Amino acid sequence: MLEAPSILIKRAELIDKMGSARVKDVRFCGDTITAVGELSPAANERCVDADGGLLIPGLNDHHVHLASYAASLQSVRCGPPDIHCESELIEAINRPGSGWLRGTGFQEDVCPDLDRAWLDQNGPARPVRIQHRSGRLWIFNTLAIEAVRAAAADLAPHEQARVSRTDGLYYDADEILGGLIQSEAPPIRQASQRLAELGVTGLNDMTPTNDIKAWDWFVSLQHSGDLLQRVRMSGRSELSTQQKLPGLVCGEVKVHLHDTVLPEFEGFVDLICNSHSLGRGVAVHCVTEVELVFTLAAFRAAGAIKGDRIEHASVMPFELVEQLVELGLGVVTQPNFVRERGDVYLRDIPSGQHDSLYRVRSLGDQGVPMAFGTDLPFGDPDPWAAMRAATERRTLGGQCLGEQETVSPEQALLGFLGSLENPFVERTVTVGAEADLCLLKAPWQTVRLDLAAHHLRLTVSRGKIISGPDS
Ligand SMILES: [Zn+2]
Repeated sequence: MLEAPSILIKRAELIDKMGSARVKDVRFCGDTITAVGELSPAANERCVDADGGLLIPGLNDHHVHLASYAASLQSVRCGPPDIHCESELIEAINRPGSGWLRGTGFQEDVCPDLDRAWLDQNGPARPVRIQHRSGRLWIFNTLAIEAVRAAAADLAPHEQARVSRTDGLYYDADEILGGLIQSEAPPIRQASQRLAELGVTGLNDMTPTNDIKAWDWFVSLQHSGDLLQRVRMSGRSELSTQQKLPGLVCGEVKVHLHDTVLPEFEGFVDLICNSHSLGRGVAVHCVTEVELVFTLAAFRAAGAIKGDRIEHASVMPFELVEQLVELGLGVVTQPNFVRERGDVYLRDIPSGQHDSLYRVRSLGDQGVPMAFGTDLPFGDPDPWAAMRAATERRTLGGQCLGEQETVSPEQALLGFLGSLENPFVERTVTVGAEADLCLLKAPWQTVRLDLAAHHLRLTVSRGKIISGPDS
């Protein structure tokens, strides 16, 4: 077999955890960084002059929903920052088009009366479904309800009952609805390319319904070249049997809690124990204090292993931080929500709880392992915007939320530099490391003052340049 050609990046700036810099040449070949130092180009070797620009490991987004993100690219935005009020929403959903209309990112503030009747009155004469920004609720118009009912005619009665609501509000029904709504395959190639342009080379897909079918689909997407990133797939227990592949590994068992209908405690503890016995960590979605208390109690009963993690940790009173430390649990959080949703939190959540929202600095100070994920498409997919939010804690409206939780640009960058296998362990540009890289046009001293994707020059994933003028 022919050996993959190597690529040499000359005069790149490498930084350590504290941000101190040195300029080196870096060579990678296939999937591996093979040399770092003062290097001369080999015969026929492709050479890129970094001119002192920063070279870092490719960014890993530790909490994403890739298929939903791809689908969102074909959808109409129905909430901030694009849509703010009823009249803007009416304009957006009535733009010309045919077939199903899929809206995303809806938030009550935009239009408190949005339901089936409102959509029938104000929307277009085509099947319409609009997703709440939480990802848990779909709102349908009458044509959409009729289409789903017709498609559900062959289902078992108990399944038909799940989609027979007349108010058009469907909670937590993605799986059943997905099978009933005939839609085009989401444009993964486009989604993956956009993420490459943001410097993202690894994704932990945390969709709770991920199963073997999803796994096989991702294998084929990587094989066809549509999916450029490395993927860690978390999801159902059944994934535990999947063999590790070069670009795809099995992640945590994902548990999606809803504090209105918490699962039976013993069953939850058993699920954690069973996952641990298969060597798999458990990732639990905790956006409320009740969900977090319930989860910590379950981990106390089951015991925690390396790899167990809390997703979001949106609300965390200080006493619970201490419990996380005791149990050794890590947190994957979204500083971008401070920016994107902070104005609503400031208005709707009692001020006494503001200090508990999306903690970052205090977790680090207390020794809680922590990493970032954007939760795309429910959060803005740009990791640089998330880093900036972690350093500023400013809402879109310009207010400050949790100023004491700001972190330095160096710490913010680390949130996306952890490995896919263990998001709490930092990667560096070093010999033997995977050839996943981001080359920026400027040195860190410039980038740290302006954390933004426009500094990116090229992105390398698994040894291939996947984005940039040199790709
Ligand atoms: Zn999520």
